[in-house]
Amino acid sequence: MADFSGKIGPAAVPLGDRGMGAAALVPAGLRRHENRVLASLPQPDLALLSRHLHVVSLAPGAVLQHQDLPLEHVYFPHDGLISLLAMTPNGETVEAASVGRAGAVCPVLKSDVRDAFLTAVAQSAMRVSRITTAHLQIAQRESEALNLAMRRSRETLLLQLRQNMVCGGLHPVEQRLSRWLLEAADRLESDVQPILATQEQVAQRLGVRRTTVTLLASKLQEAGAIRWGRSRVEILDRSRLESIACSCYAGLRERTRALAPADAATKSIAG
Ligand SMILES: [Zn+2]
Repeated sequence: MADFSGKIGPAAVPLGDRGMGAAALVPAGLRRHENRVLASLPQPDLALLSRHLHVVSLAPGAVLQHQDLPLEHVYFPHDGLISLLAMTPNGETVEAASVGRAGAVCPVLKSDVRDAFLTAVAQSAMRVSRITTAHLQIAQRESEALNLAMRRSRETLLLQLRQNMVCGGLHPVEQRLSRWLLEAADRLESDVQPILATQEQVAQRLGVRRTTVTLLASKLQEAGAIRWGRSRVEILDRSRLESIACSCYAGLRERTRALAPADAATKSIAG
């Protein structure tokens, strides 16, 4: 159908031959890390990675990895959102998971890390730390803390995949849209910071028509729950959105809370 909007579209910015966009490479060093998975590591474990970890600036729409194509890097966002998309052979997409600074874009299947399981796209201009999968694997052999952190990151992605599958099959778009907005704000770790997304992009994430999102966005705006400018959404009334969202929102939040990375300093104080 002509206006089915489930494609990455022309906004997608392919990265260069080594998976890097118009990006400045900066050594990440040993400072306290902006990504919370890396920040959760004890310093000796983070030191195993730091020589191979580089900070990369991404343009909006930058494609970090392509489904079924070779996987070269693992990414740790410092800010913003990375959308993980499942794609049809025609390029139609639906969001399988998303990752903010509390997570990592990492192999979903432990048994097969050669090819990307999903396509990863930067939702906005953002910074990430990246490391080659080979260097990460070497470090994982020496660090139980890193192993645990990567396993939790992977489990968080799998829980999202499961929830999104059941949600997409069973729940009305209005509930799914409210849930998407709440989870985006949660992964940005802010209700004040706007979510940078057009209605077209969110339609692609949910696998529905743009006109459906426009209609439902108007309803949410009239209810005072959100304000949606051309490419930014502000959450005005979180409790209103929570009352509209399906039970998947609270269920997934509860399920993933135990997997969230804790700060290494906090852990050492807590023993
Ligand atoms: Zn749902």
